[in-house]
Amino acid sequence: MLVVMRDHASQEEIDHVVDRLHEAGAEAHLSGGAVKTVIGVVGEREVVYSLELEGLPGVEEVVRVLKPYKLVSRDFQAEDTVIRVGGSVVGASDAAMIAGPCSVESEEQMLAIARAVKAAGANFLRGGAYKPRTSPYAFQGMGVAGLELLREAGDEVGLPVVTEVLDVRDAEVVAEYADVLQVGARNMQNFMMLEELGKMRKPVLLKRGLAATIDEVLQAAEYLLKGGNRDVMLCERGVRTFETYTRNTLDLAAVAALRTLTHLPVIADPSHATGRRELVAPMCRAALVAGAHGLMVEVHNDPEHARCDGPQSLTPEQFAELMGTLGPILALDARRWGSAA
Ligand code: PEP
Ligand code: MN
Repeated sequence: MLVVMRDHASQEEIDHVVDRLHEAGAEAHLSGGAVKTVIGVVGEREVVYSLELEGLPGVEEVVRVLKPYKLVSRDFQAEDTVIRVGGSVVGASDAAMIAGPCSVESEEQMLAIARAVKAAGANFLRGGAYKPRTSPYAFQGMGVAGLELLREAGDEVGLPVVTEVLDVRDAEVVAEYADVLQVGARNMQNFMMLEELGKMRKPVLLKRGLAATIDEVLQAAEYLLKGGNRDVMLCERGVRTFETYTRNTLDLAAVAALRTLTHLPVIADPSHATGRRELVAPMCRAALVAGAHGLMVEVHNDPEHARCDGPQSLTPEQFAELMGTLGPILALDARRWGSAA
């Protein structure tokens, strides 16, 4: 349920509504625009619906939201969420380019790639230290040593770092090193983990599950916002279909749909969606045209010898060439790479 306050409702009036909600055992989540405050009410349906809030001072309207997600919806917050991480910004007209290797492999590898993607204009550095591998015999990531190398490389070039939390038991340690916590496709509906990350105050990049509907993505994000974490970006990384030529099927309609349904930034990951290096650049361009607020692209200085996802990784040269083609697309609707620098 949403309580829409009148324009310029006083703080006292807002506090009064919030107090009533708390007394009834419901949660109040505030979304404050310059003029209007909307209070998202979360709690047991019977309790919430029995509250009589219409007559309270400053209340303009009480809206019953039938969608299963509320805080992530545009009804709760009309304006795009803008997330600031270090010197980088994502959301509204600020776009993110999150680039780096699939997994952290060594200091030399991480530094070489970090320098290359930074020079080409990326505003976030990625690299996995805990890898969700289909085979238990495949490289599982370097763990804490990998987090250290990622952090070092990010600091060296001045980029915030994004890395995956594979297990809720690692959340604290990953948060010590990372600026953005990635929830991988395989964990999108790990509700216990979402609850834990919702309590933390670190931005989260939530990837779409392998076979998750748009509705399920939004409900997963709702867990994070319900916990109080507002800095959440969604990531379309392709879904499973009958097609096997590409690793997954990049669902660009989902990008456009999410832009209408939620205020959260939407990122597209053509690397994992296609699994093929030659398809990454065209799908990056298409995703930006579809309205994505950013891209995640795997880059490796020696893709042939990459320990993970080499076939979909761009070389630094290919990445720089790609970046050159994306600026004009962003400029078409007055967007730019979101960097405070
Ligand atoms: C990744 O980004 O390295 C990754 C494993 O992605 P996904 O969870 O989308 O498969
Ligand atoms: Mn990968």
